[in-house]
Order: sequence, then C-alpha cells, then structure tokens
Amino acid sequence: MLPSKLLINGALVEGALKLEVINPATGKPFATIERADAEQLEEAIAAAKAAAPGWAALSCAARGEYLAKLADAIEANKDEFAKLLTTEQGKPLKQAMGEVIGGIYQLRHYAAQRIEPVILRETDAIRIIEHRTPLGVVAAITPWNFPFMMVTQKMGPALIAGNTVVAKPAPTTPMCALKIAELAADIFPSGVVNVIVDNNDLGAALSSHPDVAKVSFTGSTGTGRKIFAAGADDLKRITLELGGNDAAIVLDDVDPKAVASKLFNGAMVNAGQVCLAIKRVYAHASIYDEICTELALLAESAVVDDGLNQGAQIGPVQNKMQYDKLCGFLEDAAANGTILAGGKPLDRQGYFIAPTIVRDIADDARLVREEQFGPVLPVMKYDDIDDAIARANDNEYGLGGTIWAGNVDRGVEVAMKIDSGTVWVNKHLDLPFDIPFGGSKQSGIGREGGDEGLFAYTQPHVVNIAKAAI
Ligand code: NAD
Repeated sequence: MLPSKLLINGALVEGALKLEVINPATGKPFATIERADAEQLEEAIAAAKAAAPGWAALSCAARGEYLAKLADAIEANKDEFAKLLTTEQGKPLKQAMGEVIGGIYQLRHYAAQRIEPVILRETDAIRIIEHRTPLGVVAAITPWNFPFMMVTQKMGPALIAGNTVVAKPAPTTPMCALKIAELAADIFPSGVVNVIVDNNDLGAALSSHPDVAKVSFTGSTGTGRKIFAAGADDLKRITLELGGNDAAIVLDDVDPKAVASKLFNGAMVNAGQVCLAIKRVYAHASIYDEICTELALLAESAVVDDGLNQGAQIGPVQNKMQYDKLCGFLEDAAANGTILAGGKPLDRQGYFIAPTIVRDIADDARLVREEQFGPVLPVMKYDDIDDAIARANDNEYGLGGTIWAGNVDRGVEVAMKIDSGTVWVNKHLDLPFDIPFGGSKQSGIGREGGDEGLFAYTQPHVVNIAKAAI
C-alpha cells in the first residue's frame, strides 16, 4: 500500500489537508496523501522539542542502534522504495535502487559514528576539553531530485549527534519520506523523528521557527537566501546546499570518445537533475568537433522512457514547472547555438525532454549562464586553458566541476584553479560519506558529509580546567 500519513509525535496521522502526487512519466496523479496545516507544523516542532532532552541523553552508541534499525527496515523494503522513488521522481528503476541502497549505507555510516570529547591541550597544570553537544530541533528541508537520499543524508547526522528532526520533503516528491516515516514510527521514541508534507507553504514557518535550532536545507539558491535571512533573528545554525552550474573542462590530450561517454553520463544522469551534474562542457579546439559528434550520437541513441520500463536510460523531468523551464532553455539554445541532437520535448504524455546537445553557443546565453537542471547540455570550444578556467569560474555558482585529462598531473593543476567546493579529475560524482562536500560562491554555505558535515549538527562546548585545587 502507498504511504500517505504524516509522522507527528510518534503517531502516523491524517493531515488537515490533502495533496495529490503526480507521476512525471504520465503527468497524472497516482496518490492522494495527507498534508499538514500550520497547526500540525507547530505540533511537529513541539513534539521534536519535547523529545530532544531524552534523545540527547542517550549515548551515541544507543542512538546508532536506532539508526541501524531504520536502515535494516528500509533494506527489507528496498524494492518497494525503489519503485516508489521512480514513480514519484521519474528516474530509471536502476538509478532509484542505487539511491535507496546509497541511503541505507549512509544511515549505517552514521549509525557507526561516535562523537567523543577531544582533549585540545593538556599539561601538568591544565586540561582543555572540547565536547560536542546536540543543537536541539533540526529542520530537514529537501528538494525533489533525490527524494530518498536527501532525507537520509540529513536524518543520519542530525540524529546520531543527538538532535531531533522535523523533515519536510518537496511537495512534488513526498512519498519516500512518508515511507521512511512509516518505518520510523515503529522504531524511534515519540517525537524524535517527525515528517510533515506541505504544498510549498510551510517551509518558511518551519525554517524561521524559534524552537528550530538548525536548518539543514538542500534546494535552490533563491530559497536558500530566504532561509538565511529568516534565520538571522535568532542566529540559527544553517547549512545550505544550493544550486550549481558545474563546468567540465576537457584537455587536449584525452581520448575524445572515451571522455564523451563520461561527459554524457555525468550530464544526463537523473535526466540532468543533479546539483553536481555536468552542466557546461569546455572542450579544447583540437577535439571539439569529435566530442560534439560523440555526445550527439549518445543523445540520439539514449532510451528515454518511463523509468519503470526496462531499458529506460533517461526518465522524465520531475515536474511541470521544471519541464516548462527546460522548454524555455531549448528555445534559448535554438536561438543562440546549434542543436546537434534533441532540442524538443517528446511527443508523449508526461514530462519528457529529449536529451539535447548544443554546440557553438555564446558564453552569455541563458543555457550557459544559468542552471538548466535538465538533459540539455551546452558544449563550448576553447584554445587556451587559462581562458577555459576563467570562463568556467565566471559564474555565480561554485558547487562542483570535472577535469578530463590524459596527463593526470596537468588535470590536477587545472582542478586547483577551479573555484568550487569539489573538483573531480577523470571521474565524477564520487561522494564518499566521510568526505565533506558543499559549495563556494552562491552554491551554499557549510558542508555535508565527513566530520565537518557531522559537526555542523553539534555545538562545540569547551571546558578549560586548571588542575590545581583551590
Ligand atoms: P526549492 O528551493 O524550490 O525547494 C526546496 C525545498 O524548499 C522544498 O522542500 C520546498 O518546499 C522548500 N521551500 C520552499 N520555499 C521555502 C521557504 N521560503 N523556506 C523554506 N523552505 C522552502 O528547490 P527544488 O526546486 O526543489 O530543487 C532544485 C534545486 O536544488 C536546484 O537548484 C539544485 O541544484 C538544488 N540542489 C542542490 C543540491 C546540493 O547538494 N547542493 C542537491 C540537490 C539539489
């Protein structure tokens, strides 16, 4: 049965309102679920606040046991999760299963974390110890491109660090979060995990609520700015993982065919709706034509279909608003560049956009400057590597980026000059849980993952002791 209920104070409850959820492969509703009103949001925050002291008093190891149980429960239902994920989000089933398994590993990773006090300095006369205490209630606000893993990515570190959580998924993809809520209801003490659904109308109240100590947000830069401003009054702890417009720079000494396939996958995975997807390519003039031709061949031969159908490589984009936005980018591409493959929506129901490769497009075209967040890839030519680096950096975003090089040392040299949170050399989208990631410039503030990401859910607390008795 499809999940539908909110999780508030340990109980699965009906909402004051309802919400229809659309399958992007058909453009039609496939579920009607519960939706919270402002009063239920208050109840969820109050429950999280009331549960916080008891949860914080448990040892890390005890909290880890709860997280491990959640991971086990999800694993026992992983096929159902993957199907639900494809149905609400659109990605091919294999990618959906990858996301679910990734989220299970992520929960197990956090279940195994132990946050111990650290002795910062010790002499015969003094000892200075740093403890890390929980912050309290964490608001976990997530977008629609990874509706499963974004939730585990925030719940895992928030809970192991001793905080309680109110999670709010994006309204177009609430189903996986509600399924997690269903399982969490049987595992966690009341109020430790709360999951509410809105219709883009409760995020502001949640992120500005005086009883919310920290907001962990992943989504667009525009919404991130609002959350940052709303948190100013009571100096909330805020982590913002925002938009990206990641450049791939292809050096002149690579095998164009081999690199083209990596570029294509890096740009088209999840129909391009990945914050860290390749969103612009700069290829050296000596291999530019070949790279463009190969990319166009890959685009033309890609199987675009309902993600539930076997063999689908690229699914629909997730929602009508994104589909309309991408249609605008296609018009811009046709006006300002040469479309080699794709260039239009598919003539079928649902939100399908043909994978599109655009060459000879100006650097100031919208498709190059803005985040397209879809399967439409501009490919630009460069002669001089310093020029390519300058063009890659000449953007408000700085989330990720890739360098493709025959000579790896040269690739690393270029990577060092890219102003972004993560740069990969000869690989892409490798995000181990113990390695921090996040943005520079308008791509965010703070980090998720690694110690840095985990500690962002804690308050450092230093005790500075003179050993001599008085
Ligand atoms: P969005 O900003 O529109 O929405 C994200 C979430 O914020 C949703 O849950 C939404 O309901 C909520 N929200 C809306 N208004 C709010 C407000 N005033 N206060 C608090 N919350 C509010 O983003 P989206 O369109 O769902 O996601 C796409 C964007 O997310 C892209 O820009 C993408 O690059 C970015 N993203 C970034 C990362 C990363 O790790 N940096 C990962 C995935 C997606």
